[in-house]
Amino acid sequence: MSTEATSPTPRPGILDISAYVPGKEHAPGVAKVHKLSSNETPLGASPAAIEAFQKAAFQLERYPDGQATLLRDSIASVYGLNPANIMCGNGSDELLGLLCTVYLGAGDEGIITEHGFSVYKIQIKAAGGTPVTVKEKDCRIDVDAILAAVTERTKIVFLTNPGNPTGTYIPVSEVRRLQAGLPKTVLLVLDAAYAEYVRTNDYEAGVELVSSSRNVVMTRTFSKVYGLAALRVGWMYAPQAVISAVNRIRAPFNINAPAIAAASVAIRDLGFIERAVAHNTEWMEKVVDGLKEIGLTVTPSVTNFVLIHFPDAEGRRARDADEYLTQRGYILRAVSGYGFPNALRMTIGTQEACEGVLAALRGFVSRLA
Ligand SMILES: *Cc1c(COP(=O)(O)O)cnc(C)c1O
Repeated sequence: MSTEATSPTPRPGILDISAYVPGKEHAPGVAKVHKLSSNETPLGASPAAIEAFQKAAFQLERYPDGQATLLRDSIASVYGLNPANIMCGNGSDELLGLLCTVYLGAGDEGIITEHGFSVYKIQIKAAGGTPVTVKEKDCRIDVDAILAAVTERTKIVFLTNPGNPTGTYIPVSEVRRLQAGLPKTVLLVLDAAYAEYVRTNDYEAGVELVSSSRNVVMTRTFSKVYGLAALRVGWMYAPQAVISAVNRIRAPFNINAPAIAAASVAIRDLGFIERAVAHNTEWMEKVVDGLKEIGLTVTPSVTNFVLIHFPDAEGRRARDADEYLTQRGYILRAVSGYGFPNALRMTIGTQEACEGVLAALRGFVSRLA
């Protein structure tokens, strides 16, 4: 028998989990900081959404609508969906966690991909499950490798599509092939946090696939192109049986009233979204061209961020670039925890931020020439 515990003890596995590491926020001693580490939009939120948020301040004594009806109806009308198949969450992170709690038990496996979002691993473990990591191919999800990893214990598969931090995507034909090859008992979660930015014809976030199957869920977020990361709002589109199961365990008032009010307006402000995407498309192209001109390698991205690869040479590595850029007020994201020890992820920011990073990296690369 082990020695008797003298304080409350977390259940087995909890202390093996490494906590999520958010993007850096500060550059000590630098007056002006450009935070390009968390894929936040440089354009803020829709003014109409901000106004709705401010109005909500005068009813803070009231509980929010536990069904978030206004928001679910707004999402449903913009996307042409049945609101009964939509559930909102305190960020899509909450929904990803709830899905793990509902579908995974001790000994069950959840498949994640090599460079997938780190939150899945935490939530699979928190639910008592075992994460099984599948290799990607050239920074892209490999459907055959996922299918080969499925066992009797597999209960859930997480796809980040487009990927974060890779910025790559797999076409809808590949997602369909994956769904067709999975046992019907395995839940396929399509995390489409960056779907609004994608401009290629062969990509789909997953609406059709959810509608036509019983084991697919699509998650979306208001944290990226809508500029509402501070409010924590995400949603999922899911089959009725999934909604019904998750509804039993979610917190009764999981999204707050100001968030419901602001997001309901934000999703209808299509002009604002269009401008945000246009800014991103323009500056993504300029940043990628600029980085290549400097001689750096980038992974082609369909999102609002880009993975920059550095040479494996003393003084020129990602770690050196990170320090150099931070000293100049440009905060990018180190991604060694995602399998990229020698790369940085850069969010497309304002014109000033993008031009500033390019100028700084030109200096970084040429200082050793
Ligand atoms: C940013 C992001 C999310 C969004 O999370 P929220 O909890 O909705 O803020 C989800 N998945 C991925 C891959 C992301 O990068």
